[in-house]
Amino acid sequence: VAKKVAKETAKSVLNYTINKIENPEEPSLPEEEIDGLYIIKEYLSDFGYLQQHGPFNNLTNNETTSAIEIYQRNFNLQAKGNLNIETLQQILIPRCGVPDINFEYNLSGTNTMSWPKGNMWFPKGKTNLTYGFAPENKIPLNATKVFRNALTRWSTTTKVLNFTETSYDDANIKIGFYNSVGDVVDEIVVGDTIISLELNSSVNSGVIRLDASKYWILPTDNYTGSWQDGEFDLETVAMHQIGHLLGLDHSFENDSIMYPAILPSQQRKVQISVSDNETIHRLYTITNTTKADANYGYVESSSGLITSLFLGFAFVAMLN
Ligand SMILES: [Zn+2]
Repeated sequence: VAKKVAKETAKSVLNYTINKIENPEEPSLPEEEIDGLYIIKEYLSDFGYLQQHGPFNNLTNNETTSAIEIYQRNFNLQAKGNLNIETLQQILIPRCGVPDINFEYNLSGTNTMSWPKGNMWFPKGKTNLTYGFAPENKIPLNATKVFRNALTRWSTTTKVLNFTETSYDDANIKIGFYNSVGDVVDEIVVGDTIISLELNSSVNSGVIRLDASKYWILPTDNYTGSWQDGEFDLETVAMHQIGHLLGLDHSFENDSIMYPAILPSQQRKVQISVSDNETIHRLYTITNTTKADANYGYVESSSGLITSLFLGFAFVAMLN
């Protein structure tokens, strides 16, 4: 019920805002008050566009304008820094909870949680990662199969990592469904991935957290869901979140599996794009070469080169 209220509130606030923008009561002032702007600021802050933290007010300012402009540029909207209808519609599109820009991988000191960034969260040179499902979720077999297929697709296409199933507690990659706290921005997020360092442990795990309140469509349902009805294709979101764990950031190319939002026309998207694959190979080639250079000197760095040639070959072979 709380979620529904939040959703309705968001809708009415945004409708009000749209109305206000379409029918301005007075000419714009340098610092204008727009009802519901605090929600937009929260959104821009959560996804890395606004470098400020809440609580936010409804007053326009230069920081918000430039944050909106960067957001518009990323999502290929006309970039003027103004909150037009096109921009608000983009903001309402369901998306991944991982920020788009301006965030770091940081698990040092008191930080026990970080957004994924690159592939540094597991030991260098590791080629097999384990995964497990949250037992309390009692995820049905046809849903765990979706994740197995998604992991297999990543490993056969990119050929950089293999995945083996184990228990949730022992797994490098932990997969589960979570209840979100239910604020307005949360409502838009379908899932995310975090890297977590458990207490009294030196081992990181990658946690894929999907929103338990959404209705998840399985390929076996033989039915294409629509997020307008709160339905989401599980494999699409699984592919995207695994991409984060492999080390990919968001991409603003529409065909990328790492596009941050679920476009109305792409509610099922499970194929790794050519540029996604290239990005993975750059990431793992660089990592391997750096490791060889740093730890083993000249001889091993030649083998680093061989690795990259081999990966290049595998990649070309896949394209044919
Ligand atoms: Zn994402």
